[in-house]
Amino acid sequence: MATIGFIGLGNMGGPMAANLVKAGHRVTGFDLVSAALEAAEAAGVAIAASPAEAVAGAEIVVTMLPSGKHVLGVYDGPQGIIAAVEPGTLLIDCSTIDVESARKAQALAAAKGTDALDAPVSGGVGGASAGTLTFMVGGSTDAFARAEAILAAMGTKIVHCGDAGAGQAAKICNNMILGISMIAVSEAFVLAEKLGLSQQALFDVSSTSSGQCWSLTTYCPVPGPVPTSPANRDYQPGFAAALMLKDLTLSQDAAASAGATTPLGAAATRLYAAMVDAEQGGVDFSGIVNHLRAGAIA
Ligand code: NAD
Repeated sequence: MATIGFIGLGNMGGPMAANLVKAGHRVTGFDLVSAALEAAEAAGVAIAASPAEAVAGAEIVVTMLPSGKHVLGVYDGPQGIIAAVEPGTLLIDCSTIDVESARKAQALAAAKGTDALDAPVSGGVGGASAGTLTFMVGGSTDAFARAEAILAAMGTKIVHCGDAGAGQAAKICNNMILGISMIAVSEAFVLAEKLGLSQQALFDVSSTSSGQCWSLTTYCPVPGPVPTSPANRDYQPGFAAALMLKDLTLSQDAAASAGATTPLGAAATRLYAAMVDAEQGGVDFSGIVNHLRAGAIA
């Protein structure tokens, strides 16, 4: 069993750290928010007074933070975790961040003689609690081999996507597909309504024809056809529209810096920005169907 430092014990990090404890690891955690610390402590996480204290003597360090600037802020500088860890410690960043910051974090770790991985997740808070997350991992083969058993305590699918930043690239590309496909499915339901076609009829046809996709068959944006989708519980997330906008914005930043043409990604980003501007950022991202129906976004 490993000694693990865990920084960022929020909606995702809290249950992930709890699953590491359940798997028998010794976990010491840190967060800026006292409610997060209290919940983690109740789950068996030892609480540290600073990031440096949380990682002292750790073999593995997991970070689960909002964005690239938070990750680099925690990694870098005299109070940062890279200065505090022993060479040989493996750093695993599970936050969803931009590819450039992920590569910078791994370069900082390499300069110290420390292995690091980017390992963003999909599966949401439900997956974090159940230990069924998917990890998309970027970094060296050796570091990936060391991380696999640790990640297996928090997830069920662990994919080595390539070198530094490849995990973030996979996450950003996947969520760009998701954002676009949810809008496509929602537009089809809105058009069907105007044409007098029932939602169930459209679902029955498209779920078994060429329009089939996850946004339709698992996460259907209208209530009824898929009883477990957020549409059946007044669009409570799930995956909030604000988080979808964050990931789409990362995709557009990445597309601009890599010179990729992603016009539908750009349109999806604008539509989710409009939803968030309408103070619907906390609503599940499938709630975009209601904005389209109301004609609230062009
Ligand atoms: P969250 O806001 O609930 O948790 C982030 C935590 O980081 C907070 O508790 C915050 O206090 C802490 N934090 C910020 N700066 C810190 C610092 N300097 N030191 C210590 N702690 C600090 O967010 P979340 O929902 O847990 O998401 C975390 C990451 O996972 C994000 O990158 C998000 O995009 C990604 N993600 C979230 C979901 C989801 O459904 N919530 C799904 C997949 C990926």
